[in-house]
Amino acid sequence: MRVIEFKCPNCGSGMIFDSKSGTLACPGCGRTDQIETLPEPLEERAAAATERESDYHCTSCGGVIEADEVTTATVCSFCGAAVVLGDRLRGSLKPALVIPFRIGKEEAVAAFKKWCRNGRLTPAGFMTADRIKSISGVYVPFWLYDLDNRIEVQAHATKVRTYTRGDYQITETEHYEVYRKIRLDYERVPIDAAEKMSDKLMDRLEPYPYEQLKDFRSPYLAGFHADKYSYTDEELVPRVKEKIEPYIDSYIQSTVGGYTSVQFTSKQVNTAVQHAHYALLPVWVVQYDYDKLEHTFAMNGQTGKVVGKPPISAMKVAAWFGSIAGVSFLLLKTVSWMMGGGFW
Ligand SMILES: [Zn+2]
Ligand SMILES: [Zn+2]
Repeated sequence: MRVIEFKCPNCGSGMIFDSKSGTLACPGCGRTDQIETLPEPLEERAAAATERESDYHCTSCGGVIEADEVTTATVCSFCGAAVVLGDRLRGSLKPALVIPFRIGKEEAVAAFKKWCRNGRLTPAGFMTADRIKSISGVYVPFWLYDLDNRIEVQAHATKVRTYTRGDYQITETEHYEVYRKIRLDYERVPIDAAEKMSDKLMDRLEPYPYEQLKDFRSPYLAGFHADKYSYTDEELVPRVKEKIEPYIDSYIQSTVGGYTSVQFTSKQVNTAVQHAHYALLPVWVVQYDYDKLEHTFAMNGQTGKVVGKPPISAMKVAAWFGSIAGVSFLLLKTVSWMMGGGFW
C-alpha cells in the first residue's frame, strides 16, 4: 500500500498541482516545479511486497485515507494532504496520457453558482455551502481508441433528368450500381471508463483539445481526485463502435453525392482497434457520488464547458407562472392608466 505525497524540498509543506501555471506548487513557500523535469515517484523501487495492509494511511497524519476501490488520488479528510495511491497506478493501471486541469477551483465554484442562478427554478437551498464545498476536481479514466475501419458498401442509385421536347415532357432515368471501398482511420476516440460517471454526461463534455495531452506523470494528480478505470479497453469496444457509427455513415453519404436517389443494398464495416491509450481527463463535478442522478453539475476541467441541468422545484414553477400572469396584468393596467391619463 503505497501512498505518495509531494513534500516541498524547501519547507516540507505538501505541494499540489496548480492549474494556472501548470506546475507543482508549494502553498507554504511559493516554490514551483516543472512537472516534466521532476523524478517520477512511481518509477522508484516498489515498497516491499510483504506489506499486507488493507487501508491506505496518510503519510502526513497517519489517518486512514477515504478511498473506494477505484480511487487513485484524493485528499486526506483529516489533514487535507494531497495523496496519490501509487500501487493503483502501476503496470497495466498506469495511465499513458493526461490532460492536466486548466480550470481552478474558484473558477469552477463561480461557474456552479452561475449555473444555479440560471436555473431560476432550482429548489431553494440547492446551492448550499456544503454543496459548493463538495465541488471536486476529478481525473476521469478514459480509453482513447485508434481505430482502423474497412468499409464496403453497395447501393443502387439513379439520376433523373426531365426536359421538354415539342409537346412531350420526357423523363430520363439512369440507373447505377454503386460500389465504395473505404478505409477510414480515427485517432483517439474518447470513451469514459468510469462506472460512476454517466456516459451521456461525459460525452457532452467533449471536446477535449488534444494539444494539451501530456505523457502521464503522477504530480498532475496532486490535490485532485483520480480514479482508475472500471472497464477494460476490450469491454468498451462496443461503445466506441456505436459512437463512430454516425460519423462513418455520414462519410459514406458524402461519397455518393450527385445522384437523384441512393438506396444502399449492403454495408460492411470492419473495425479494428489499433491501440487504446489509457488517459485521465479533467472534470469538475458536484455530487460525484450521486452522479446517477440526472442533475449533476459537470464542467470540462480543460475548456470550462458546463453540462447538466439544474433540478427544478415544482413550487417555484407555480410561483413562476404566478409571477408571469402578475406581470402581464400589471402591464395592461399601466397601459390603460396611461391612456386614461392622456384623455384627461
Ligand atoms: Zn515550500
Ligand atoms: Zn492526513
